[in-house]
Amino acid sequence: MQNKSTNTAFIPKMYCNIFGHDYYVTKKVTRHVKEYTCSHCKKQLTTSSNGNLVELTPKFKEINAILERIHQSRMNRLKEKTFASSIC
Ligand SMILES: [Zn+2]
Repeated sequence: MQNKSTNTAFIPKMYCNIFGHDYYVTKKVTRHVKEYTCSHCKKQLTTSSNGNLVELTPKFKEINAILERIHQSRMNRLKEKTFASSIC
């Protein structure tokens, strides 16, 4: 008796083709831009500048990293501002 394990191997990409991708948020870049990963095939998406979901290419990863830095420094400045005004 032979156990052909190759036949029972689950093909995530095929699952996604039939049922669609199952994305979950992997990273919040800004309030509007997020990065998503499909739990089945690990395909990655991100929110583009016009609000559509696009494939997360190395170029978009770069853009998101810059966006994240700008967003965080803005948040830090906002925190400092409210902190300063609460003292005065
Ligand atoms: Zn998928």
